[in-house]
Amino acid sequence: MSFFDSKANKEVTIMFMNENVRCGNCGGFLNRDDTLFDEQAEVFFCDNDCLDEWADDHFDDIMKQYKRMHIYAG
Ligand SMILES: [Zn+2]
Repeated sequence: MSFFDSKANKEVTIMFMNENVRCGNCGGFLNRDDTLFDEQAEVFFCDNDCLDEWADDHFDDIMKQYKRMHIYAG
């Protein structure tokens, strides 16, 4: 967030202590400290319910990832 400070005659940007992020499933704004974070996909989630819904929508991606990590063709 930024605004114009007329006394200082310059644009001022406010940095919030709590960085807000958006849920990768429902798009809701979240306090970063309260989220689940998928390090691989770099997606935030509100809670387990949103993670489960997201996983349903991304089944193919998750299977690809799973196969790459866990399945070895002999
Ligand atoms: Zn959510």
